[in-house]
This record gives sequence, structure tokens and C-alpha cells, in this order.
Amino acid sequence: MVQLRRQTDCDGDDRPTMTDQTKPDNGNAPARPFAGLKIDFGASGGAPLGGIAMVPAAGLGGSVPTPTPSTDGPVETKVLIIGSGPAGLTAAIYAARANLEPFVIAGSTPGGQLMLTSDVENYPGFPDGIEGPELMAKFRAQAERFGTRFVDLDVDRLDLSARPFRAWARGVEYRGETLIVATGASALWLNLESEQRLRGRGVSACATCDGFFFRDREIAVVGGGDAAMEESNYLTRFATKVHLFHRRDGFRASKIMIDRTYGNPKIEVHTNTEITEVVGDAKVEALRLRDARDGSERTMPIDGLFIAIGHRPNTDVLRGWLDTDEKGYLIPHEHTASRIPGVFIAGDVADHRYRQAITAAGDGCRAAIDAERWLEEVGASETAATAGH
Ligand code: NDP
Repeated sequence: MVQLRRQTDCDGDDRPTMTDQTKPDNGNAPARPFAGLKIDFGASGGAPLGGIAMVPAAGLGGSVPTPTPSTDGPVETKVLIIGSGPAGLTAAIYAARANLEPFVIAGSTPGGQLMLTSDVENYPGFPDGIEGPELMAKFRAQAERFGTRFVDLDVDRLDLSARPFRAWARGVEYRGETLIVATGASALWLNLESEQRLRGRGVSACATCDGFFFRDREIAVVGGGDAAMEESNYLTRFATKVHLFHRRDGFRASKIMIDRTYGNPKIEVHTNTEITEVVGDAKVEALRLRDARDGSERTMPIDGLFIAIGHRPNTDVLRGWLDTDEKGYLIPHEHTASRIPGVFIAGDVADHRYRQAITAAGDGCRAAIDAERWLEEVGASETAATAGH
């Protein structure tokens, strides 16, 4: 999130209730850590489309997850959009305003990673900041205002072998003359029970989102890549000390980031160290650590833990259809176009560099314009071909 890095799209899937009680308990802490969100995120089953487990109507401005449309035949649209983060919803707004009557398959936990984000202070147009779920509610309301239809289900299967492109969700078929893929990416987690329990209570996957809440605290980062190095350095703006834990002694991070990290007097690097437990009841209090070389264990008091062990693009359902890089991110061919004519790509599912709400929204705009122009071109050539017969 760099321009204000992913305050917006920080975490991955589900995380537990965030309340005012999550505040690090010192006098300098802001009044509403993690924005004091009161949203119950239930356990997610790893939904393929970003997998956020959101309690219905928590943040979508009164919109509740829409049921499977009652229909005898397939749902047809000119622009079918998969995903409902900033990319998918911006694509919907643009396509709807172009009278393309888009249909969004929003995922069973709609809204994207912003639904897990507290204050978003870097999204232009909101000088006082806005909570992530509220921002997404506005995106969605804007898309609905121009006639976008939604279903809040995960895509089970795709067939992109011919037009119309086909997607199935809970047995219902959706057909699009074009398809915009905006399924996003999810943060990776250590997958410790204690880590999941304390998400939003001192465990975060986004330093730029939540670092502010740890002013004058001693905190930890886990990971050995550029993200871990970058987040550790960033967090020294707030924290008195940052402990960086990495499970082995070699780093994936670039040399410049390693040098910067070791050169930062507020960062202490602990290699060959695994986190086996996040200790705490209502909030993070300590880490249980294991030395990877001799297996010895110790406990270190800590106020917060930032997970920076990578992201995973949500491309399971697309496997085999579109080109991916070695990490699974989709590769656009020209602008937002994929290798399949009529299928477009937007947002974090193809972006491991910026991962910002604003860049994803920009991508959604580009994809919708590309889809619109492609439909015009195909329509014109099909009309010409028909006239020629
Ligand atoms: P990386 O995949 O590069 O690194 C992930 C790190 O997390 C690895 O060191 C890995 O350890 C560790 N890790 C993975 N799983 C676990 C686990 N279960 N427990 C403990 N540690 C774990 O991801 P990043 O997000 O750091 O970077 C992704 C890409 O983005 C990279 O290409 C990076 O260069 C780029 N990037 C660039 C930045 C910049 O230029 N400023 C900033 C941030 C990212 P191990 O090494 O042992 O596998």
C-alpha cells in the first residue's frame, strides 16, 4: 500500500471481532485502535474469492448477501464480473454507467480485503478517513445505483472455452459476453490457532494499516522477504522496538532491504526463530518462540505481531484458463486483456507490487473500459460479417 499502502487491502480472509478492547493499553494509544470496528467475522472455510467471512449486512450499507437468483435458465449479461473488492466494484460502476448491465458474482464474503480494514486514510476523497467496510458499502451502492446486479456466492467452476463465458455458483449458470476477473489476493498466515484468535487484537497482516496503533510499543514482525523488511522499517516510525523473526538464517529479501534492516537501530533480527504461539487472551501479550537449530523454547513479551509472509492470489477457480506467473498471479497480456479475448483482469489478482485499494479501483476502471471497447469492436465485426453473408 505505499501511497498509503494497503491500509485498505491488508489482511486475508476472516478475522475475529474487532472492538475498542483491542487497543494497546497505554495512554498514548488512539481512542479507536483498528477503528473500533464492531464486525463479527466468523470462521471462513477458505473461500476461493478472497474468503472474507462477513456477517451479513455488517458493512454493505444495508445490502445483505443476495440469494441465488431464482431463475429457470442461466443469468446472462454483457459484462460478468467475479470479485467485489475495489477492482470488481469499480468495474461494475463503469460498466453499469456504460449501460452494459453488469452482473457481479461477489463471493460468499463480499467486499474484498477492505472489509477487514479499519481506518482507510489514503483513499482520495475522504480527508477524515473512512472505515474499510463503509467505503466498500459506498462502492457497492454506487454500482447498484446504476443497475448492477449481484449475487453473493463463490464461483464453483468456470468455462472460458467459448463465448459467452460461463461461470457456475451453487448450481446456477452465469453467462457473460465478457468477463472481468477481480478475485484479489489473500494474506498468508502462520495458521496458529492463537494467531487467528488474536487477529484484530494485536495480530495484523498490514503494518501500514495498523502500525499507527502501536506507537511507543514493542512489537514483532515475522517473515524473511522484502515485505517483512519493509514493514519492520516502517513500524519503527511508531514502535520503540521491532523484533523481526525469521525461521531460517537466509533471507529472500533483497540485499538493500536486508542492509537497511540490520542498519536500523530500532530493529532486532532473530534468525532461525519460529513463532509457535501468540500468547494472550483479549490482546497480544507475548510470543512463544522456538530456536530452529536446537529446539529450545522461550517466551518474549510483545504488544503486537505483524505477519509478512506473503500473499496468495485467489486464482484457484481460474487454474488452467489464464496465464499465471510463478507465484500464481494472473498475467495481463495487453492493458487489462488476458490471453483469452473478452476476458479481462483487474486488481490484486494480478498485482503483487502495489496492492492498494486505489490501484485496484483504477484497474477495475481500465478493465471495464477495455471490455466496453472490446464489445464494440466485436459487435462491429460481427455485424460486418453478418452483412457480408
Ligand atoms: P516472499 O515470498 O518474498 O517472502 C515470504 C517470507 O515469509 C519468506 O522469507 C518465507 O520464509 C517466510 N514464510 C513463508 N511462510 C512462512 C511461515 N509459514 N512461517 C514463517 N515464515 C514463513 O514474500 P514478500 O511478501 O516478502 O514479497 C513478495 C514479493 O513482493 C517479492 O517479490 C518481493 O520482492 C516483493 N516486495 C517488494 C518490496 C519492495 O521492493 N520494496 C516490498 C514488499 C514486497 P522462507 O524464506 O524460509 O521460505
